[in-house]
Amino acid sequence: MRRLDLRKTQAAHFNTIRDINRQIVLNYIREREPISRAEIARETELQRSTISAIVEDLKSEGLVEEIGEGESTGGRRPTLLRLRTAGAMALGVSINPTHTTVATSDLAGRVVEQEEFLTDPDSDKTLGHVIDLVREFSNRNPGAIEGVGVSLPGLVNRAIGDAVYIPYFKWRNLPVANVISTAVGLPVIVDNDANAVALAELWFGRPEVSDARDFILVMVAEGVGTGIIFDGQIYRGESGAAGEFGHMIIAEQAPVACSCGNHDCWEAFSSERSAMARYFKLSGREESPSFGFSELVDQALGGEVHAKAALIETAHYLGIGISNLVVGFSPEVVVVGGKIARAWPLVESALTETIEHSVRRGLPSAKILPSTLGEKPTLRGALSLVLAGKFSAAFAA
Ligand SMILES: [Zn+2]
Repeated sequence: MRRLDLRKTQAAHFNTIRDINRQIVLNYIREREPISRAEIARETELQRSTISAIVEDLKSEGLVEEIGEGESTGGRRPTLLRLRTAGAMALGVSINPTHTTVATSDLAGRVVEQEEFLTDPDSDKTLGHVIDLVREFSNRNPGAIEGVGVSLPGLVNRAIGDAVYIPYFKWRNLPVANVISTAVGLPVIVDNDANAVALAELWFGRPEVSDARDFILVMVAEGVGTGIIFDGQIYRGESGAAGEFGHMIIAEQAPVACSCGNHDCWEAFSSERSAMARYFKLSGREESPSFGFSELVDQALGGEVHAKAALIETAHYLGIGISNLVVGFSPEVVVVGGKIARAWPLVESALTETIEHSVRRGLPSAKILPSTLGEKPTLRGALSLVLAGKFSAAFAA
């Protein structure tokens, strides 16, 4: 018999019927806007009076607004509803190994304002800079910011808000949420960057991804991380460390060291850094600060042979790791995020050929799609940490 583990059932999961109905109405408006109260009533079978009461609440909370009138179907013209997207309501902080971005967004996840600085390996300096910018943005939007989401490139304990281990800077057990929250007086949610991006795909990605119950997000940046969405939720594992597939062993003698120091991890074969190392070796060019992975993608898209070869080889190794994940999890979709998504026309066949190789043995396949979140997926992810909680109590802090 299946036994309920009550220790893991948090209070937030005990929704009242009204909370559930509220989420149904808010998500109908989110997905189907502009929509009238009558249309919601027809499609959900909720009582008209229940919907009207919920809509009034959502309006007074500033989540929903009325826009003009729709087509009449006989009687009075219905008033249409949509998400209130005017103005900032969430703050996102994306701490990456090289850059940190702080931004505000509206309820639909669109970035309103953003600022970027170089991440300092000294955590006091980076968090100090983050706190200054969060204060500045929230002072500019008095009373509007509901929370701060922080994405971090490493192991995170979301429940207590700590960075457990960030390999790039050797940050250990750093109470990131507590430090920022105490300084700025706003609720702060921290999560691993790949989990945050998976959440952004779930709520703001293309329908093929956001409608899938099970998908895996593979985040390619300085490192390689994965976020697993299982049955519409982030799969975290026992200690929140699930998804560390960047360190699965793929082959030997990678072109660069992994962030963990080894030379046999998937990350060491498939990250942006590995593609850069391949390019410099093939082209004989000197490394320079003005030539980063974005420039490599530009060169490859422009037809430069060494850049193309470096990306295609990187995609081959990326494909090996993805086919292992597909064989193990059988997800509906695998989404590839990061700047490499922009080079999709060049890398798609190298990726899919590797994956089809394992599928030919009769193993399950999955759709492999580039992310549509753009060049700063971890920022969209950080913002989603706050926004997802507005649309689903399951993601509330
Ligand atoms: Zn590793």
